[in-house]
Amino acid sequence: MKTIVAFSGAALLSLPASAQPIREADRTKLLQTMDAKAAHYGDLSRRIWEFSEVGYKETQSAAALREELEAAGFEVTAGVAAIPTAFVASSGSGKPVIGILAEFDALPGLSQFDVPDRKPRVEGAPGHGCGHNLLGVGAAFAAISVRDLLAEKKLPGTIRVYGTPAEEGGGGKIYMARAGLLSDVDVVLTWHPGDRNQSGLGTTLANINAKFRFRGQPAHAAASPDKGRSALDALLLMAHGVELLREHIPAETRIHYIITKGGEAPNVVPDFSEIYIYARHSHMPTLDDVWSRIVKCAEAGALATSTRMEMELVNSVYNTLPNDALAALVDKNVRRVGGFKYTAEEQAFAERLARSFPPSQDPLPIGSQEGVQAPREGVSSSSTDVGDVSWQLPTSALTAATFVPGTPGHSWQSTACAGMTIGRKGMALAAKTLALTALDLFTDPAQVKAARESFDKRRAGHDYRSRVPADQKPPLTYRDK
Ligand SMILES: [Zn+2]
Ligand SMILES: [Zn+2]
Repeated sequence: MKTIVAFSGAALLSLPASAQPIREADRTKLLQTMDAKAAHYGDLSRRIWEFSEVGYKETQSAAALREELEAAGFEVTAGVAAIPTAFVASSGSGKPVIGILAEFDALPGLSQFDVPDRKPRVEGAPGHGCGHNLLGVGAAFAAISVRDLLAEKKLPGTIRVYGTPAEEGGGGKIYMARAGLLSDVDVVLTWHPGDRNQSGLGTTLANINAKFRFRGQPAHAAASPDKGRSALDALLLMAHGVELLREHIPAETRIHYIITKGGEAPNVVPDFSEIYIYARHSHMPTLDDVWSRIVKCAEAGALATSTRMEMELVNSVYNTLPNDALAALVDKNVRRVGGFKYTAEEQAFAERLARSFPPSQDPLPIGSQEGVQAPREGVSSSSTDVGDVSWQLPTSALTAATFVPGTPGHSWQSTACAGMTIGRKGMALAAKTLALTALDLFTDPAQVKAARESFDKRRAGHDYRSRVPADQKPPLTYRDK
């Protein structure tokens, strides 16, 4: 193929002779085309919202996304990294390779109708309280849209959508990266649903989580308690130890747990118990220290009660590594796309929903979704397996106001927003921002270079080693009861 060489920023870009440059009018047209397709992708996000499948069980959700990408001409490989619901969808050829991460898992217990009052669709069932139905579809929407424009202009470059299961504690991305699926990617683009429009420059919390199991001896709890060794006592001692530990660890640490098994009947000394516990801190070495002390609490519980303890590490993710160049690029593009207004109906929904919000230290008012917040350094008190990707490749971040400003994360309120038009509007904003950003990266090698330089600068002097053992298999059944 004949090539010409064009100047783009400070770097040289080799283009096929037939390639056409991208002009301002092309960007405007891209956004208009996306507006015209937003309803279609909104409907797809609603289908996945209704599926509400939890981590590693997202069979229908992953299939719906794969079918959409296949229909758009992407080459799709399903079941990658030994995960049935993981996939890679690729289109185009050559460099650069831009990857967009797509999530689609729901959260246990957050089922909710798309109404502003607490009303589960199915009592106790999962719901999209983190908006991952929007996240996955928004990623596909962006990738298909930018690919169409690249193809029309005969521009080189490869766009990929990574279908990454089980973000909520299953760590799908860790296993996909480990399988080498991202090894030739130049830049990774991500977004996440939230209550504001903002390019991401902050970090998140590293997270280590595990299930601790205790095994004792059953006995009649009244007739022969002396013959029993209580696995529940061991668990309660561990939990008490953890509660006391809170005073003597860095204040920004987060520890939370649930008791998943505490015995079968009060009149039988429990011979089995299980606690599922998370610990988080933005600095992994600090978290390592906290974690080793939590393990000691578990050992102490077993020692004091003559029971046995075993630990199954479920997952561990890193804090995210911000990327200054990508944060600036995404900020430029989200400002170009701009925020959005509510209809009268959406405004009424938002006002009613807001009455259910707990008091917040940093509330954003309804109406703030019409604007864009400046990127901010700092720590957000959440964790994501994007963290591990961001330590391996330049990775962007973006939040879009899919939830009414002030909506708590992982709540029935966010599930409600994720299933209705406010969620869809935020998703379209994110998809358009990602498409523009991908376009910049495809057409300006200086931007790819800057992303790499920002990555190298932030990464320098830090060690990255996943806390998930190299031989660990994806915890495909971690949501099983
Ligand atoms: Zn979440
Ligand atoms: Zn999430």
